[in-house]
Amino acid sequence: MIIIMLGAPGTGKGTVGKLLSEELGIVHISSGEIFRNYIKKHDELGKKAEEYISKGNLVPDNLTIDLVGKRLEEPDTEKGMILDGFPRNINQAKALKEKLEKQGKKITATIELNLSDKEIINRITKRLTCPNKKCREIYNLEFKPPKKENICDKCGTPLIKRVDDNEIAVKQRLKIYHEVSEELINFYKKENILYTVMLNDNSPRTSKEIAEEIKKYIRKINRK
Ligand code: ADP
Ligand code: ZN
Repeated sequence: MIIIMLGAPGTGKGTVGKLLSEELGIVHISSGEIFRNYIKKHDELGKKAEEYISKGNLVPDNLTIDLVGKRLEEPDTEKGMILDGFPRNINQAKALKEKLEKQGKKITATIELNLSDKEIINRITKRLTCPNKKCREIYNLEFKPPKKENICDKCGTPLIKRVDDNEIAVKQRLKIYHEVSEELINFYKKENILYTVMLNDNSPRTSKEIAEEIKKYIRKINRK
C-alpha cells in the first residue's frame, strides 16, 4: 500500500501520516525529515538544502528526487509506505510515478488535507517539534502543549522550534504551496486517486479522527 499525503504545511499531514503508518504497519517517509537529517550531519548536501529550507523555499527537484528516491529503495518500503511532503510538484510526481512503475508498484491513494491559510499560520507559529529521530512528536502550544514546558512527553528530549516555523518563512511556504499544488492535485484527480479531507477551522478534529476517516476511505477503495 502506498499512500501520499498532500496538503499545505501545518495541516497536520505529518502527524496524521505518522499515525497511519503505525496503524497500518508501513513506514512513514517525510522528505522534510530526510533533509533535516542531512542538515544535522552537516553534510555538503545538507548545507545546500538548508539554504532553501530556512527561507521557506523548495529544495531543487534534482536534489530532492535524488535524496528521497534513495530512501524509497530501502527494504523497509517493501510492505508499503506513507509519503509525506513528496511529491511536492508535478515534476516530482512524474518522477515518482516512473520510479514506482519500474519497481512494479503503484500509488493506492493520495490524501489532501485542506485547511485555511489563516489557521495554518496560527498553528505553525505555535508548533514545537521533538528532535529525537526515534520520536519526532509534534506539539502545539495552544491545543497540544507538552505536559512539562518545552520537554517531550514521550521521550523527555527538549523540544525545538524548526528554523522555518516563523511567520515569514511560513507565509513563503504557503505562497509556494498554492503556486504548485493546484497542478499536483489535478494530476492525481485525473488519475482518480485523490481524496480530500476538509478540516473545519471552528471545531478542529483530532489526528486520530482524521486518520480514521482516511482508513475508512482506503477500505472502501480496496473493496472495489
Ligand atoms: P512542511 O510540510 O511543514 O513545510 P516539511 O518537513 O515537509 O514541512 O518540509 C520542510 C521544508 O523542506 C520545505 O519547506 C522545503 O524547503 C523542503 N522540502 C520538503 N519536501 C520537499 C520536496 N518534496 N521538494 C522540495 N523541497 C522540499
Ligand atoms: Zn520525543
